[in-house]
Amino acid sequence: MKKRYLLTGLLILCCLFSFPMAGLAKEPALVINDKVVKTDVSPQIIDGRMMIPLRVVSESLGAKVNWLNQEKTVTIEANQKTLKLKVNTKIAYVNDQSLTIDAPPKLIQNRTFVPLRFIGENLDSDVIWDQEKYQAIIKAREEKIDNSYLPTPPEENTNQEKPSSEKPNPENQVKNPRVLTKAEYQESEDQTIINLWVESGQYKVTELTNPDRLVIDLSDTSKGVDGEATTVNTKHVSTMRVGQFTPTTTRVVLELKGKVSYQLNQSANLLNVVLVPKTTSDNSSSQQPGEGYVHRVINDNNIIVVDAGHGGKDSGGIGASGRYEKDITLPTALKLKTALESRGFQVEMTRSDDTFLELMDIVGITNRVNPFAFVSIHANKAGNPSVTGVETYTFYGTDHTLADLVQSSIISKTQQVDRKVKEAGFVVIKYTQVPSILVETGFISNQGEEDFLFDSNNQTQIAEAIAEGIAKFKEIQNKTLTSSP
Ligand SMILES: [Zn+2]
Repeated sequence: MKKRYLLTGLLILCCLFSFPMAGLAKEPALVINDKVVKTDVSPQIIDGRMMIPLRVVSESLGAKVNWLNQEKTVTIEANQKTLKLKVNTKIAYVNDQSLTIDAPPKLIQNRTFVPLRFIGENLDSDVIWDQEKYQAIIKAREEKIDNSYLPTPPEENTNQEKPSSEKPNPENQVKNPRVLTKAEYQESEDQTIINLWVESGQYKVTELTNPDRLVIDLSDTSKGVDGEATTVNTKHVSTMRVGQFTPTTTRVVLELKGKVSYQLNQSANLLNVVLVPKTTSDNSSSQQPGEGYVHRVINDNNIIVVDAGHGGKDSGGIGASGRYEKDITLPTALKLKTALESRGFQVEMTRSDDTFLELMDIVGITNRVNPFAFVSIHANKAGNPSVTGVETYTFYGTDHTLADLVQSSIISKTQQVDRKVKEAGFVVIKYTQVPSILVETGFISNQGEEDFLFDSNNQTQIAEAIAEGIAKFKEIQNKTLTSSP
C-alpha cells in the first residue's frame, strides 16, 4: 500500500511540475461552451495554471491567432481585442496596454502553450477549474460574443464529444468550488452590514447609479440561497437580490437609498460588506493599489490630469493607412486641455509634446498631482477592419460614474458606435488613486474612423464631449462632498 501511495504521489508531483508526463498522468479535460474539446496534445498544468495548446485558441475559441516564430510571440484577436504574449515573458498586452500575467506562454515539445485563464477572460469568457472532474470549463459571456469572430459550431464534429448528460445544462455541469450559503444583513447605528457566507475568493464590486446599486460579483461561486429579493430597508439599503449572473458568477445586488461609502472585509467563510454614509473623511481612506482595490479618493479640487497616450518612440497603434495613434492622442488631449480650461478646470498634462513616458511615470505624475480625476486619451485597433466605435475603460471594480458620463457624452456628440464602458487592468487606470478612465476614441484600424480621428474638427468635438462628461462628473462629486454632514 505504501508503495502505491508513494507512486501516486510521485505521479501527482510529475504532473504538476514537469510536462512530458501526459501519457502517464491523468490529463486535464477542456470543456468549451458546454462541449468537451479533444486536443492532439493534452493541456498542461504548470505551477497550478492550466496551459492549453495555441491551436485550441483558434479552433475552439474562434480567435484569430498569429504566431511569430522568431520573436516567439503570439497575437490573438477576437471580440475586437488583441492579445499579445511572448514565450516565457510575464508582460502581455491587451490591445495596446501592457499588463502582467502570472503564467507566461511556454514552449513544450515544440508546441506553444498559452495560459487558459488569461486568454479566456480576455476573450470575454468565464474560466473555472473543476478539480473533481479535473477539467477546465470555459464559457463565453453571451452578452459580449462578437459573432463576426465566432464560427457557428457544426452539429456533428469529430473533435467534439457530447457531454455525458443528455442535455447540457450549465447549472448542473459547472461545479463551482464555492457556494454562497447565506446572505443576511444587519444594521448598527449608521452602518448597514451585509454578511455573505461564502469561502474566501475573488470578488468584484461595482457601483451603479440611476438607481444607486452596489453589485458584488463572487467569482467561481454558485448560489445556495434563493434569488428572491429580500426587503432590507435599512438606512442605506432598500432590497437585496441574489442571482446566478453567469454559470460561474453569483451576483449580489444591493439597491441603495443613496450614495454610500462601503468597505468589504473577507475572512475564511464570510464576506462582510459595510455601508456607511458618504462623508468627506473618506478622503483620507486611501488604500494601497492591488487586487480588489475598488475605492478611489475623492478630492475637493479643480485639478485634472490629462494623458495623451503613447508618444516618442511608442507610436501606439498603426492605422489603416499607416498613421500613428500617438498623432491622434496628442492633439486630442491638447484640445481637451483647452476645453477643460474653458470650463474653469486646472489641467496638468502628462506630456505636451511628442515624448515618451513610462506607464508608471504617468501614474507617478497623477498620484503626485492628486487631482479629482485622471483621463487618458487613446485610439483603438482591431484585427477586423470593419470594427468602429468608442469605448471607455475604468479599472476592475471601480465606480463607473466618470466613465459612463464621458462615454455617453462622446456618443451623443459624435454619433460614433457605442462600444460601452468596460473594465480592464490597464496600468494607468489601475495604480492611479483617483477616479481614472482611459478613453479609446475610435478605431484607427478602420479607414473611415482613422480619417475621422485625424480630422481636427472631430478631435475638437471629442475633446468637448469628454470635457462635458468630466464637468458633469465634477458636479456629482461636489454634491457628494457638500451633502455630507
Ligand atoms: Zn493606445
